[in-house]
Amino acid sequence: MRQGMPARAQVVVVGGGIVGCSTAYHLAKRGWTDVVVLERKRLTSGTTWHAAGLITQARPTFGTREIVKRSLEIFGSLARETGFSTGFERTGTLHLADSDERWEELRRQASAARSNGIRAELLSPEGAAELFPPLHVGDLAGAVSYPDDGRGNATDTTMALARGAQQLGVQIFENTKATGVTRRDGRATGVNTPEGEVEAEYVVNATGMWGREFGTIAGAKIPLQALAHYYVITDAIPGLPPGLPTIKSAPDYAYVKNEGAGLMVGFFEPGSYPWSSRGIPDDAEFTQLPEDWDHLGPFYEKMIKRLPILADAGIRLHFCGPESFTPDGLYHLGQVPGLRNYFVAAGFNSVGFLSGPGAGAVLADWIADGRPPLDLPEADPRRVAPHETNRRYLEQRVTESLDLAYEIHWPFQQRARARGLRRSPLHERVEAAGAVFGELLGWERANWYAPPGVRRTYQYSFGRQNWFEHSAAEHRAVREAVGLFDTSSFGKLLVQGRDAESVLQRTCANNVAVEPGRIVYTQWLNEFGGIEADVTVTRIDERQFLVLSGPATISRDRDWLERHIGPGDFVTVTDISGTLAMVPVMGPRSRRLLQSLTDADLSPEAFPFGTSREIDLGCGFVRATRITYVGELGWELLIPADLAIYVYEAVVSAGTALGLRHAGYHALDSLRMERGYRSWGHDISGSDTPLEAGLSFAVAWDKPGGFIGREALLRQREQGVRRRLMHFTLDDPDTLAYHDEPIYRDGEQVGHLSSAAYGHTLGRTVALGYVTAPAPGTEPSWYAVGGYEIEVAAQRIPAQAALRPFYDPKGTRARC
Ligand SMILES: Cc1cc2nc3c(=O)[nH]c(=O)nc-3n(C[C@H](O)[C@H](O)[C@H](O)COP(=O)(O)OP(=O)(O)OC[C@H]3O[C@@H](n4cnc5c(N)ncnc54)[C@H](O)[C@@H]3O)c2cc1C
Repeated sequence: MRQGMPARAQVVVVGGGIVGCSTAYHLAKRGWTDVVVLERKRLTSGTTWHAAGLITQARPTFGTREIVKRSLEIFGSLARETGFSTGFERTGTLHLADSDERWEELRRQASAARSNGIRAELLSPEGAAELFPPLHVGDLAGAVSYPDDGRGNATDTTMALARGAQQLGVQIFENTKATGVTRRDGRATGVNTPEGEVEAEYVVNATGMWGREFGTIAGAKIPLQALAHYYVITDAIPGLPPGLPTIKSAPDYAYVKNEGAGLMVGFFEPGSYPWSSRGIPDDAEFTQLPEDWDHLGPFYEKMIKRLPILADAGIRLHFCGPESFTPDGLYHLGQVPGLRNYFVAAGFNSVGFLSGPGAGAVLADWIADGRPPLDLPEADPRRVAPHETNRRYLEQRVTESLDLAYEIHWPFQQRARARGLRRSPLHERVEAAGAVFGELLGWERANWYAPPGVRRTYQYSFGRQNWFEHSAAEHRAVREAVGLFDTSSFGKLLVQGRDAESVLQRTCANNVAVEPGRIVYTQWLNEFGGIEADVTVTRIDERQFLVLSGPATISRDRDWLERHIGPGDFVTVTDISGTLAMVPVMGPRSRRLLQSLTDADLSPEAFPFGTSREIDLGCGFVRATRITYVGELGWELLIPADLAIYVYEAVVSAGTALGLRHAGYHALDSLRMERGYRSWGHDISGSDTPLEAGLSFAVAWDKPGGFIGREALLRQREQGVRRRLMHFTLDDPDTLAYHDEPIYRDGEQVGHLSSAAYGHTLGRTVALGYVTAPAPGTEPSWYAVGGYEIEVAAQRIPAQAALRPFYDPKGTRARC
């Protein structure tokens, strides 16, 4: 054992970059000083040492912006707290737009940032030139300034965090590689090093671009891949003012900031390429990759047009370093499935310096409090699908993440690379019917159907896209006749065994101790009453239940359930998603259609809403469940994969005369929004309770034995909630909202939209969003009155608000 290396610690943090050091520092600040940091080489020697140092708040999601806000607080106080300088200064950032589309994107981004309380100011091109005089602005449509953004020195900041942690008692060991993770009973119990084991209650994987390799050792799937990433530093530029705002010029794929007496010009350019995808060399330390001017030159030339002073500036440094990127461009922060007390914070997509201090602080709070201090479902390592750590997949998909980083981020934008991996048994059939596919975690899913003669591509815009009318027709068919969806990508868990009922009763807020053939809509709560999962549970027989979850939540739902199986429980949880096709047949004519194919009695009396049973269909058998996500009469058919095409053909052939249409996920979203059905990860997640989310109807308060989260929920019920999920429609039928738009009540910001879609029956945008009241226990009537506005692209649009959905508020249509 290395001298001084303890045999045990409360937490072992693996990785001495900014993220690992921040985690250790913040654990120590929480009083968790029995912490060991292991660094295979020297602190900062991974990717941190060469970070450009930008701190920009315009991040893609509410949660990731919250992380940067937390980072900014830390940047503001760290030097004072530790006595070590960080080079932090607030210079602001200017984002530039050179087209109407880019300008709309920037305005939408500014509104989203305001939903976090981040200052964002719209500027004319001339206004931008005033803040950054050398800038060429002749071709600009506008700019947005984030005055509170900043920059700092990554190495200094990390050393300040490390020294600060040590001052509080944390032990840091450099040149000490973690070679393994020990585990017992599904829990991480320590870390192996060449010099022996360090036992631990918690293990944190903060190994940056090594995150995937180090994760594999513990059986954790952490998809990320290092790509080559560039900046250029110029010689001194005479007369260049110091302290200029950072420029982010997405149209030029570049950012610019003062660097000494010159400028740093960094790039997020198309044509990126992976580095060492088969394994990072063991001796990698302060790695610098070879220059590639052939690749970078054209982008630099382009940037000279934006900033003509670059033309005469000599180049002092042409830097290329590896940085890890992920398949969806979002980092991994949280727990991995199947291994308790193992946390990961890696894959930072070149925002690890600006996110690292906040991410480490969040992780420290999470470990210390046993719950995350903020909701980050988008960064949850349990969102990952198994194929995502495949090397070839990563090489293709992750380069696209970087290539797209500075492109316009369109609503409904689809990835092009590494497609076609996971297909429904009906894939060819729905494709033949005109399906235009989108992708979710490898699944190809019919988003909309192109009628004959219509091109099967997306033409993106922030307004109505080319599929708008086709999707509207699908929507109408479901409301007025009958529609068929292929939702085979949905997650299906078979929970079976002697104690299946008791485990599920404990986990579900609703009562699942029902007769076989009943289906129960329920949430799974954490002990604070927050919603960890939103599922339906079908009781198949005494010892068998089927849990339906989303394609992106199946892994975390399974993990949640398995974590709540006690040592004496006799239960198994099996993911049977791929074995069953799922075909919702929805709409007022669905009964007539399906009745023509089955001897089972589908009348309301014989087959009421909320029931499920195996029925004959044509010459086969399927499980038919009367439930809806669209607000209409209908049955979800669960079909053995080998029978799927046969059943599909039977339904389509019987449905043609009844006006059956194929309907895709865009129509599904429009339909569900009108009826106000919540979507986990958007409208509900771990820090929203059923009382806040309007889901108390699904809480069985008094069922025997209670359920996880009941006590917290009871306390909240007693006290009264302070925020409620509300339904909105925008008065202007031409304005489209998507998510994160700020909500104003009587001119005051009271929340932001969690999701939105155009409602084709209501003829306007429909949305959901939480509204926060002045105090807990505020009467529901307060929420419903008042003049509401939603800020879309920096413009306030009058809106209607209600506590019930605008379409079929009593939910009678699905129950007829
Ligand atoms: C050119 C360039 C410019 C950038 N500019 C910015 C910017 O302006 N703003 C920004 O926010 N981000 C920027 N970044 C990204 C930023 O540098 C990274 O996201 C950040 O440093 C990641 O920090 P980390 O702690 O996750 O990883 P790292 O700094 O790589 O730390 C991980 C550490 O883990 C150690 N390790 C790995 N495996 C083991 C093991 N088995 N045992 C012990 N130790 C292990 C490694 O040696 C490494 O030191 C830039 C990146 C590049 C390449």
